[in-house]
Amino acid sequence: MKFGGTSVGRPERMHQVKDLITGSTEPTLVVLSALSGTTNALVGIGEALAAADKVLAKERIDSLHSHYLKFYLELLKSPAARTKAEEILKEHFEFLNILLKISFNEAIQRDILTQGELLSTKLFHTLLEELGVSSVLLPALDFMSIDENSEPELGKISERLKAQLSQHPNQHLFITQGYICKNHRGEVDNLKRGGSDYTASLVAAAVQASVCEIWTDIDGMHNNDPRVVDRTRPIAELSFDEAAELAYFGAKILHPASIWPAQLHNVPVRLLNTMDPAAVGTLIKADVVETGVKAIAAKDGITAINIKSSRMLLAYGFLRRIFEVFEAFKTPIDMITTSEVAVSVTIDDLSHLDQIVEELRRFGTVEVDPNQAIICVVGNQVAETKGSISAVMDSLVDIPIRMVSFGGSKHNVSILVDAKYKVQALKSLNEGVFSW
Ligand code: ADP
Ligand code: ASP
Ligand code: MG
Repeated sequence: MKFGGTSVGRPERMHQVKDLITGSTEPTLVVLSALSGTTNALVGIGEALAAADKVLAKERIDSLHSHYLKFYLELLKSPAARTKAEEILKEHFEFLNILLKISFNEAIQRDILTQGELLSTKLFHTLLEELGVSSVLLPALDFMSIDENSEPELGKISERLKAQLSQHPNQHLFITQGYICKNHRGEVDNLKRGGSDYTASLVAAAVQASVCEIWTDIDGMHNNDPRVVDRTRPIAELSFDEAAELAYFGAKILHPASIWPAQLHNVPVRLLNTMDPAAVGTLIKADVVETGVKAIAAKDGITAINIKSSRMLLAYGFLRRIFEVFEAFKTPIDMITTSEVAVSVTIDDLSHLDQIVEELRRFGTVEVDPNQAIICVVGNQVAETKGSISAVMDSLVDIPIRMVSFGGSKHNVSILVDAKYKVQALKSLNEGVFSW
């Protein structure tokens, strides 16, 4: 059971989480995020330190500290539990304050980001103790790891986690941190923003759990982005493939990579609402029969690169050479379209854009379009469902389309537009492709 930032962000919510996790009859592993706002605050502290603005860093540390000083007093009532919480806060805020005195580097930045999940799990564990609920706090840094490509090491995670669990044969409740891990150098690292979902799926796969429950602040995956579009509704069932596409292409409710571990071990994923536990939510599993457009998501921060070359005409090996450039710079490609004389691809990691463009110029003329958004239309067999594509295209008549990717998979149609049209595209598709 994974609980996100809002689900643990207030003392009364932590009490609600306690009720939810103790209601289960099966052994339960609970993954917690940092309290809402904490990771953003920690990012801010890191930025101030990186800019050598110690005054601002100190201000930010103090402001976060006072938030926690209020939080624990509302959360815990007994003197013993409060003393314990005071020690926890002292340890973590002393650590942050020491950083004001030493020189800053990237490893320290990652250490800072770890504090949020360490604090939330330790405070929650103290609450359980105060309430007489027996549980074991498992440090994620002892079993969660990523390799030199920042990929989680599922095999090793599984071995280490099972070994840890076997040390507590009579225990049924375990608490651990989402998001944080160790990297291949043994340093503290993380699974990128929103990474607690990824932890949950990895942990569920690692122990072959019966289910992976992701508890958040909304009643499941909606058919469009509820932050942008007024009228959206939860989707009862999604296949792993559909959910993976939606997560990858911007549905913020799930971390982009969070589906594959559960899918690999066929662990069903449920998206549930901590604020409304009776709501049905979304069930994500292997086989889903319902066809047609199920949901729309959008991912911005996309750059399109077009490579045009007459040498491509009737040539073989051309695409391989182009892809090798992206491989050399470890830059994943999201969308691809080709004609006989040109290839367009999109990327969202711009760290090596200049070098990539320079290399690609060896093959022909290169054009770069920044600030694009991928609009992703997802549904079981959507590409084969009669009328789906025309409904999508009709909805977008007023919007210039830069690329269309269709047929790569049966459950996805992706459309690239300038990011300034993202909201308009999501709204128009909402009216055009769903029957309300
Ligand atoms: P948590 O802190 O629990 O991880 P997040 O804020 O990361 O929660 O994710 C939940 C939020 O995702 C929702 O409040 C909602 O605004 C947003 N969201 C974006 N797209 C969707 C979607 N398609 N369905 C549901 N929620 C979505
Ligand atoms: N606390 C981390 C973040 O805000 C991880 C998570 O919440 O999933 O990104
Ligand atoms: Mg999240």
